[in-house]
Amino acid sequence: MNRSQSEQLYQEALKHIVGGVNSPSRSFKAVGGGAPVFMSKGQGAHFWDVDGNKYVDYLAAYGPIITGHAHPHITQAITEAAANGTLYGTPTVLEIKLAKMLKEAIPSMDKVRFVNSGTEAVMTTIRVARAYTKRNKIIKFAGCYHGHSDLVLVAAGSGPSTLGIPDSAGIPSSLAQEVITVPFNNAEALHAALEKWGDDVAAVMVEPIVGNFGMVMPKAGFLEDLCRLARQYGALVIYDEVITAFRFHYGSAQTYAGLANHEAIKPDLTALGKIIGGGLPIGAYGGSKEVMEQVAPLGPTYQAGTMAGNPASISAGIACLEVLQGEGIYEEMERLTVRLTDGIADSANRHGIPLTINRIRGSFSTHFCDHPVTDYDEAQDTNSEMFAAFFRNMLERGVNLAPSKYEAWFLTTAHTDVDIDFTLEAVEASFKEMAS
Ligand code: PLP
Repeated sequence: MNRSQSEQLYQEALKHIVGGVNSPSRSFKAVGGGAPVFMSKGQGAHFWDVDGNKYVDYLAAYGPIITGHAHPHITQAITEAAANGTLYGTPTVLEIKLAKMLKEAIPSMDKVRFVNSGTEAVMTTIRVARAYTKRNKIIKFAGCYHGHSDLVLVAAGSGPSTLGIPDSAGIPSSLAQEVITVPFNNAEALHAALEKWGDDVAAVMVEPIVGNFGMVMPKAGFLEDLCRLARQYGALVIYDEVITAFRFHYGSAQTYAGLANHEAIKPDLTALGKIIGGGLPIGAYGGSKEVMEQVAPLGPTYQAGTMAGNPASISAGIACLEVLQGEGIYEEMERLTVRLTDGIADSANRHGIPLTINRIRGSFSTHFCDHPVTDYDEAQDTNSEMFAAFFRNMLERGVNLAPSKYEAWFLTTAHTDVDIDFTLEAVEASFKEMAS
């Protein structure tokens, strides 16, 4: 596959943009280096790069593009919003509509506030929890990524892990001391941390279904234990559902049928992003009325945003959720994903490639190892060279994956059986080459 235009553009980008990319997860550093592909058009489940090569896309822009690229309903909503002015700095009726849609789908949220990214949403939930409890520390889980605000970059999965930067420079050690990190799926470790620091823990923060060291389900009872323990020690529970909300069903992980008792795993605060913006920048956070009324202008916790709730992002979000309300949408994504993961597993077996696949409805992760992946240590203990070889083989055959062994594959409403057949042929050829 000729990608000379991408290579040239990368050299040009390196002169002007730090590292040539505007988010480090887009770099190919973890998969052998070189030029990332410069895409020029996305349509449905497909991408075309600047050299004219076509790809089936499973990156879905790290999650938001669940309806495929340039979905006509979303494009129309954005076009109409733009024609009426992109930014008002005043309230609009659209914000009320999307807030109501979120509240109906996620009952733990009495009140919502829109921001511009998942990072902002998470950062603010922590501030609100600290203000409400008048405590300082937070407990998080190793390998969960919660955006790039200072506190949550400690032991922060996904992007930082891929690039070998577990903690970021520029974060004062005094701040890092306010974060306690324990292993995911380990209620005993959480209990021990709360016993030691419980009096000063404002919140326990978790991705209720992990999307940042592969897709990892909580073990039976883990979220129930987490919520019970947090409450016992007077800490709030924050769910980071930036990836998981509207990913597995029309709702959030906290209401996903696969998780037992919804009341027993109800959080105090939830952070949202990605899908709820239909591909435009967005974040949101929400929770119980009592906790949310800490936020200005009602309460003493300050949070603001010039771009927050802008009509284009909100319109795209409403349109995206409308598409997701369609009959059988999630079932079809799951059907295709089962076909795909079954086929990948068969190919891996045929060629003696050790592979663990974690699938949750229409998304999954591939781990080159022969053990289960239920926490961050297990996700790290996988073959990075094999992933890099697989990634490059797939790209060469027209399949676009995230350049990181920790990131998920996301199916969209635009993928079809033809895409799955094409992808399985690429997988078979890739594994055959890797095994030879
Ligand atoms: N939380 C989770 C679970 C995420 O996966 C991410 C981004 O990948 C974020 C927060 C940060 O969101 P954003 O990149 O929109 O700032």
